[in-house]
Amino acid sequence: MGERVRLRIAPSPTGDPHVGTAYMALFNRAFAHRHGGQFILRIEDTDQTRYNETSVGEILESLRWLGLLPDEGPGLGGEYGPYVQTQRSALYKEQAEVLIEGGRAYRCFCTKERLDEMRREQTARKEPTHYDRTCLRLSPEEIERNLQEGKPYVVRIRMPDEGTTTFTDLIRGEISFENRVLDDAVLLKSDGLPVYHLAVVVDDHFMEISHVVRAEEWISSTPMHVLLYQAFGWELPKFAHMPLLRNADRSKISKRKQNTSLKWYKEQGFLPEAMINFLALMGWSMPKGEDGSEPPEIFSYEDVEREFTFERVTTSGPVFDIVKLTNINGKYIRMLSDEALYERLQPFLPGGLDEERVRKVVPVIKDRLTRLGEFMELTEFLFGPPPDYDAELLVPKKGTRETAKEALGRARQTLEGMREPWAHEEWENELRGLAEELGMKAGDLFMVLRVAVTGSKVSPPLFEVMEVLGKEETLARVDAALAKLA
Ligand code: GLU
Repeated sequence: MGERVRLRIAPSPTGDPHVGTAYMALFNRAFAHRHGGQFILRIEDTDQTRYNETSVGEILESLRWLGLLPDEGPGLGGEYGPYVQTQRSALYKEQAEVLIEGGRAYRCFCTKERLDEMRREQTARKEPTHYDRTCLRLSPEEIERNLQEGKPYVVRIRMPDEGTTTFTDLIRGEISFENRVLDDAVLLKSDGLPVYHLAVVVDDHFMEISHVVRAEEWISSTPMHVLLYQAFGWELPKFAHMPLLRNADRSKISKRKQNTSLKWYKEQGFLPEAMINFLALMGWSMPKGEDGSEPPEIFSYEDVEREFTFERVTTSGPVFDIVKLTNINGKYIRMLSDEALYERLQPFLPGGLDEERVRKVVPVIKDRLTRLGEFMELTEFLFGPPPDYDAELLVPKKGTRETAKEALGRARQTLEGMREPWAHEEWENELRGLAEELGMKAGDLFMVLRVAVTGSKVSPPLFEVMEVLGKEETLARVDAALAKLA
C-alpha cells in the first residue's frame, strides 16, 4: 500500500461502551497495524442531547481492557486533534461556508411550522417528503436581509438533480444510488452544530483517514458523503461496511435482547482475549492452514492482525451468540496455567479468603469454569459451610434414612482411619470396598457423601473436594449430616 494507512472508529458517547464499538475497533486496528498505519478514536458527540460525559473514559477503558487502544484519540495525543467533535465546531462552520460560497450548499430560513406544513402537503399528495428548495430560490438581497434581521437558519446541501453516485465498497463491491432520490439534507443546524454527515466527512478528510470501515447501517449515508467529498473537491477514502451484529432473532443487536455493554462482559469475567476471538469470528474467519486444514477457531489478536483482509468478510449478519462466547471463554480459561488463572481471579474474589485454599481450588474447578465471575458461585461451599439442605437429599434412590445413616456412619469410620495428608486414590479403594460390604452401588455411597460434604448432588469431583477440605473439615461435615438424619 503506497499511501498512508489511517483508520478510525467514531463512536457516539451515549452510554455504556458497546460491543459494536469493540467489534469495529478490532478490525479497524488490525487492518491499520497490518499495513503499518494508525488507528484513531474520534468521539462523535455533536448530538448534544445524548451526550454522556463519563462514557468517553469508559470507551477508552474498555478498549484498553481488550488490548485495542488507539494510537491517537482523546487523552492519547496525536497531531490531528482535537479528537472530540464538539471541540471542532468552528471547523465545520467554516467548511459549511466554503460549500455555500461554491454553490454546493445554501442557507435555509424556513421555520419549523413551514416545514411541517410542506411535509403534510407532500404526504397528502403521496410524495416522499423532501425539502422543496424554497430557500434555494432566495435572491442575494433576501438572504442578506434575513441575516441582518438575525433570522435563524440551517445550511442544506444542494444535491445534484440527476445522475447516479457510485462508490466501491471493499466488501460489497460497487454500490450505486440515484441522485434524484437524495434530499437537500441539513448539514449545519441552526445552533451552528453540524449533523453527522458534515462532521464525519470533514473529520475524515482533515484526519487523513484512508479507509472508512464501519457498520453496514451507514451504507445508505455513504452516497451523501461521497457527494460531499466531491463538493469539497477532496479525495475519497476507501469504504468498507462490516456486517451488523445481530440478536438471535436476527434483528440489529440491541440492549433489550442482549447484553451490549463491554463493562458487563468484563464484570462477568469474560477474558478479553476470548472476547476478541469471538468478535473476530463474527463475519470473518481465519484462512485455511497451509496444508488445507480447516481455519482455526481459537486464535489471537495478533493472528487477526497478521491475516485480516476484507475478502474474507461475509455480508450475512453474524448472530452475537452468548453461548458460543461462553464456550470460547471456557476454552481460554482452560488454556491458562493454574497460576495465571489464580491471578486473573483476584478481582472476582471477596476479601478475606484463605489464599492457600484458593490455590488448591483453582485446579479443581478449572474445567467447569466458563466465566471468572462464576468462581465463587461454584465454590462457595469450599470456603464456608455447605448450603443448608434437606435431610431427604441424603437418602439414596432405593434406600431409606436408615440406609443413609448406616452408609454415612461407616464411611466416616473408614475416612477417620486414614492417614493424612489425604490422597484420594486410597479413599476410593477403601470406599468402594465399603460399598460392596454394605451391598450398595459405589455411586450411591459417593452420592450420600457428596451431599454431606457439598450440600448438593452436583459438585466438582468429590474426591478432589475432600482433598481441598482436608480430613477434619470433611469429617465435621459428615457429622453434621449424621445429625440431620438422627
Ligand atoms: N458516530 C457513528 C457511530 O456512532 C460513526 C459512524 C461512522 O463510522 O462513520 O457509529
